[in-house]
Amino acid sequence: MEQWRDKMRVDCLIVGAGPAGSVAAKEIASRGYETLVVEKRQEIGAPKRCAEGITKHGLDKLGIKLHPLCISGRISGAALYSPSGKMVTMEGEEMEGYVLERKIFEKWLAAEAIKAGAKYMVKSQAMGMEKEGGKWKVRVKTIEGMKEIEANIVIGADGVESKVGRWAGLNTVNKITDYHSGIQFEMVNVDAEEKYIHLFFGREVAPLGYAWIFPKAFSANVGLGILEKGAKMKAYEYLIKFIKEHEEIFKNAQPIEINGGGVPVAHFTEMVADGVMLVGDAAQLVNPIHGGGMTRAIHSSIMAAEVADKALKKGDVSKETLKEYEKMWDEEYGEKTKKLMKLRAFLEKLEDKDFELLADILQGEDIYALTQAKLSFLIKKVVTKPALLGLAKKYLMD
Ligand SMILES: Cc1cc2nc3c(=O)[nH]c(=O)nc-3n(C[C@H](O)[C@H](O)[C@H](O)COP(=O)(O)OP(=O)(O)OC[C@H]3O[C@@H](n4cnc5c(N)ncnc54)[C@H](O)[C@@H]3O)c2cc1C
Repeated sequence: MEQWRDKMRVDCLIVGAGPAGSVAAKEIASRGYETLVVEKRQEIGAPKRCAEGITKHGLDKLGIKLHPLCISGRISGAALYSPSGKMVTMEGEEMEGYVLERKIFEKWLAAEAIKAGAKYMVKSQAMGMEKEGGKWKVRVKTIEGMKEIEANIVIGADGVESKVGRWAGLNTVNKITDYHSGIQFEMVNVDAEEKYIHLFFGREVAPLGYAWIFPKAFSANVGLGILEKGAKMKAYEYLIKFIKEHEEIFKNAQPIEINGGGVPVAHFTEMVADGVMLVGDAAQLVNPIHGGGMTRAIHSSIMAAEVADKALKKGDVSKETLKEYEKMWDEEYGEKTKKLMKLRAFLEKLEDKDFELLADILQGEDIYALTQAKLSFLIKKVVTKPALLGLAKKYLMD
C-alpha cells in the first residue's frame, strides 16, 4: 500500500466512491488501466444519503447481480396516496425491487472494483486540479498530508456537490430551485406493509415532491423531498408534520438515523472536457420525476468507461473524443429525459384536488405509464374520462 501511495501517476483518477465512482473504477481497472479512487469520507457508504430503493429491472438491465448482503428489503410494488389518503397500488415485474443496505452496497461495489485492480484512498479529498503538459494534476488532501496525483483522465463521480466539472471549466451552474431538498429518518417500528414502497403526495405533505416510506429488514426509511420554491417550511418541518399526522403508522416508531441531501432534478448538458468526464449525480443524471439516481449513475459510469477505454488506447483524451460518452447518454436517455422534464413541469402545476382526481381515475398501470413518460396515454384517457380534460390542458400548456 505504501508503495502505491508514493506512486502518484495513474491512467485514470476517479473522484468519489459512490455507486458511480466504484462502478467506473471496476470497469476501467478491469480493462488493465491504473485506476485510483479518492474518497473524502472516512467510510465508504456512510452516512447514506438515499432511501435505498432500486428496481430489479434496472439492475438486470445493467447486468448487476447484487451480493445478498446488500439487500435489506424486497419490494413487489408501490402504494401511492392522495392528500386525502386514497391509495392506488402499482405492481408488476417492472415494479419489483429492493431496499438496499447502502452502507454495504457501496462497500461491495468498492470491493468489486478493488478485485478488478483498482486502488482506493479513503479520507482523501480532491481540493482542486490544474492542467500541466496535457495531463491533469489533482491536489488531494489525505490523512498523510497533501498529495498531487497526475492522471490522463479524471472522472468526476463526486456527487451532487461536485466540483470536478467546475474545476475543468464546465458550466455546472444550476438554479437552486432545481434541487430537491431531501430529509429522512431511518425508523424502527413503522407500521407499513412491507411489500410496498409507500409514496404520499400533496401540497401540504411535500410541496412539489413526495413523502416516502421504504421498508427494510427491521426498520424503514421515512423521508421526503420538496422543491423549496413551493415550500412554506423547511423539509425537516414537513417531515415532522408528516410523522405526526400518521399516528396509525408511527405511533411506536423511533429514529435510529437521520440523513439528508440535495437531489438535482434538472440536467446540464456538458458532461465532458479535455481529459475529464462527469458521471452520476456529478452530471446531475437523476430521474427528474422520482429523484432516483443509482441506476442512472451506474449506467453513466459503464458508458463513460467504454469511451475512456477507447480514448486511452488512442492516446487522445480530448473533449472531442470524450464527447462520444455524451452522445451515448443522449441516445439512451435524451428523449425520455425531455419528456420526463415536461411531465415534471406538469406535476408541479397540480393542486391537491388534481391528485384526488388522478387517484379516482387512474389505475396503477396508468401511473406506471406516466412515470415512464408515455404521455400520449393521458390524452387517450381523456376520451373515456372527460373529467381529465382540465388536467390534459394543464399538461399541454407550458
Ligand atoms: C434523501 C435522498 C433519497 C434518495 N433516494 C434514492 C433512492 O431511493 N433510490 C435511488 O436510486 N436514488 C436515490 N437518491 C439519489 C441517489 O442517492 C444518488 O443519485 C446516487 O447516490 C448517485 O450516486 P453517485 O455515485 O453519482 O454520487 P454519490 O452517491 O453522492 O457519491 C459521491 C461520492 O463522492 C464523494 N466526494 C464528493 N466530493 C469529493 C471530493 N472533493 N473528493 C473526494 N470524494 C468526494 C462523496 O463523499 C461521495 O462518496 C436519493 C437521494 C437523496 C438525497
